[in-house]
Amino acid sequence: MDDAAVHVLVFPWPRQGHINPMLHFATALVDAGVQVSFLHTERNLRRLAHAPPVGLRLLSIPDGQPDDHPPGFLELQESMSTTGSAAYRALLSAAGADSTVTCVVADSTIPFAFDIADELGIPSLAFVTHSACSYLALLSMPKLVELGETAFPADDLVRGVPGMEGFLRRRDLPRGLCCAEKCGEDPLVLKLAEVTARSSKARALIVNTAASMERSALAHIASCTADVFAVGPLHAKSRFAASTSLWREDDGCMAWLDGHEDRSVVYVSLGSLAVITHEQFTEFLAGLAATGYAFLWVLRPDMVQMASSALLREAVGAAEGGRGRVVQWAPQRDVLRHRAVGCFLTHAGWNSTLECAVEGVPMVCWPFFVDQQTNSRFVDAVWRTGLDMKDISDRGVVERTVREVMKSDEIRGMAQAMAQQLRRDVAEPGLSSSEFERLVRFIEELKH
Ligand code: UDP
Repeated sequence: MDDAAVHVLVFPWPRQGHINPMLHFATALVDAGVQVSFLHTERNLRRLAHAPPVGLRLLSIPDGQPDDHPPGFLELQESMSTTGSAAYRALLSAAGADSTVTCVVADSTIPFAFDIADELGIPSLAFVTHSACSYLALLSMPKLVELGETAFPADDLVRGVPGMEGFLRRRDLPRGLCCAEKCGEDPLVLKLAEVTARSSKARALIVNTAASMERSALAHIASCTADVFAVGPLHAKSRFAASTSLWREDDGCMAWLDGHEDRSVVYVSLGSLAVITHEQFTEFLAGLAATGYAFLWVLRPDMVQMASSALLREAVGAAEGGRGRVVQWAPQRDVLRHRAVGCFLTHAGWNSTLECAVEGVPMVCWPFFVDQQTNSRFVDAVWRTGLDMKDISDRGVVERTVREVMKSDEIRGMAQAMAQQLRRDVAEPGLSSSEFERLVRFIEELKH
């Protein structure tokens, strides 16, 4: 590396939904002439199926977990903040492999990345891979607790998240995996609220969103942070077309889609982390079958509690007489772009939401946890690009909601209008594109 150059270390949380947008971000920085190193965990570096984009240097640190053990968020936080942080410190310190780093851009969920960079005198920026609306909800958690507004499920509107008083209900607040009566008592939500508060103190926040989607939330975030750059949706402009997947994609589903009429297929995926019960699986399946539409369903082998993937494939095949197609992992962006896809039944993870929005595909949301609860409320009540089933996975509701979204010209019209706007945002001289240029200048100035 050239000692005199601006050199950014990009450090994502080691999960698929965080790696994807930060890899697109890193690629955009390389294209802007910046030297970039990308920090994976050793486990993920071994799993990557494709070579990195040209010009990007890959580094890795251990995550402190045994290879055969897929850790949960809190467990991974713990081991990353001990084993991972020691390796990160060594890497950045004077004698380390990345001692020429002039700026760290770390995932907003990795507090030690900011603390150590501060100690070593390296400016650090926080990258938010989820939506501005959910970031603001997490930032508002102390206020929500103070107002006693965190009990769920409930349809009561909350006053504790600025700008969302008219439509955000308690059941739309970030939610964890345990059955705590209040999200303000859930360990996962509390941890996320804590790391969010820490990230808001960074030199600046970079959010993978567009001001056209989240103007109000961004303005409220800006009032309590040093600076905010809304540069998304980053994938919409990325030259890195190759897959960023940690799983092997099943391309066969593209030929299957080719054999279907325009907008006749329901694409179903709950992302890389959601795990459902066997009962929820059965309800989804029965609901989808009752719609009469063909469907393409991503069922990861670890996705349904206590069920093998072969058994699940058999169940779908038997129930559907060939109308359903199951894959373990799909080339999602290509699927959403395919003319045969009529709607996306999704957990409303932020990457999935953005990928869907850019293609103008209407959504049926069944949020699983954390930011997805808030995202899905925005899809339904603010952007009106889909409907939110929220915490219900009853077969009748699945059937009715999918039918309604597949048939609604109004929802499709809103989804397509949003897609056009997002394409304008990322094209030059769109707002997200200008924000990215402003960010590159900001990063360059940090060196002086
Ligand atoms: N994804 C994919 N193939 C699949 C399912 C998901 O490539 O079969 C990708 C998807 O395109 C998205 C990411 O995995 O970029 C999931 O991120 P998201 O934020 O939607 O959800 P998470 O997995 O973090 O819950």
